[in-house]
Amino acid sequence: VLIERVADAIALGGAGPRDLVLHEGHVTDGAAPVAAEGGAVLDAAGGAVLPGFVDAHVHLDKAFLLADAERDGPLAADLTAAIDAVARLRATVSLEQVRASARRAVDAMVASGTVAARVHVEIEPSTGLELVALHQELAEEVADRCLLQLVAFPQQGLATTEARRLLGAAMDAGLPVVGGCPYVDDDPAAHLDEVFALAEHHGAPVDLHLDFSDDPSRSLLRAVVERTVALGLQGRVTVGHATTLAALDPDRQRAALDQLAAAGIALVVLPFSDLHLAGHGEPGTRSVAPIERALAAGVRVAVATNNLANPFAPSGNGSLLHAAWLAAVVQRSGSAGARALLGTITSAPAAVLGLERHGTEPGDAAHLVLVDTPDPELAVARCPTVLATVRAGRLVHRAVGPVLHASTAGLDSMDRRS
Ligand SMILES: [Zn+2]
Repeated sequence: VLIERVADAIALGGAGPRDLVLHEGHVTDGAAPVAAEGGAVLDAAGGAVLPGFVDAHVHLDKAFLLADAERDGPLAADLTAAIDAVARLRATVSLEQVRASARRAVDAMVASGTVAARVHVEIEPSTGLELVALHQELAEEVADRCLLQLVAFPQQGLATTEARRLLGAAMDAGLPVVGGCPYVDDDPAAHLDEVFALAEHHGAPVDLHLDFSDDPSRSLLRAVVERTVALGLQGRVTVGHATTLAALDPDRQRAALDQLAAAGIALVVLPFSDLHLAGHGEPGTRSVAPIERALAAGVRVAVATNNLANPFAPSGNGSLLHAAWLAAVVQRSGSAGARALLGTITSAPAAVLGLERHGTEPGDAAHLVLVDTPDPELAVARCPTVLATVRAGRLVHRAVGPVLHASTAGLDSMDRRS
């Protein structure tokens, strides 16, 4: 639907609600009248209007790989186990399923405000270049909704002649960014040399999965800095994860960050994965009580919000669903854990407060929440939008989305068509 005006919206730095007039794909200053394009008015109803979000690092070809059958299986909780699990699960789905899941991932990203993304495309001998073609087709298909910038990503390493040939072929096929994953190879320096040689040959930027470890002695940051400077690639190299930085003492951490800055190397932090797969030092450093172990021991456990937006909880927002979701991340919960966490914000705290039973069973008090997901059991994992709240059978909150009006011109043109 063409939008000719975003009405009653608050922009960054703006004093108050105003209208944004759009014309031919651009925001106009609204001063000069523009020819009506027959679009609709998007009523923000006094809400904020922000620049569209950009995702610097995402994988579409392994999106939604945890199928129903895997929900309660052992969950990979370190990097090697995750790589192995993805390879195993990938082998169970068809290319068309990968395509459907990638489409679904783009839909979810767009629905979350993402307008562009750098997408790592797996290049490895068992699949050859089929994922390259899939992503190129997908990028074209979704171009009007989300720009996909594709990275050739050798997840299984570059130790074999075939793997190196395929990465080169992927670049020859037109992928604009060369990726790398040196930590999967026994000779990470050789992996880096191969990646940087390809970057030089194609004049392409580099985007590395790097230092996804708790052990700073395994860091390759210095090796990447050296190659970046040697080839004059300052400003064109990106590293993702770099969790070794979190394990450094403050002086060495500062020195490493200074090196990255001086070499113009970008750092992409990936907390969903970094919190889940890294941070395995002992004693545990997450400073969150062990919820799942307490539940398994038979303890009644509630998750609560504690504070809102103050020095005790600067990011506290009053949302129990968000609190439980964050607990799931920190506890490395799988689907079973997420299901259990739903109890920590419903039945368990009700019992702590000594309230009568509430819920959806006959006889329960009708205190209910409507959320935007088809899977109530996984509400904590999905962290959906709350659509409505019912207290004792009465609607006490209802989410109201942006309203789409036809403009006068739009109605006219629709009338003409009908
Ligand atoms: Zn990645």
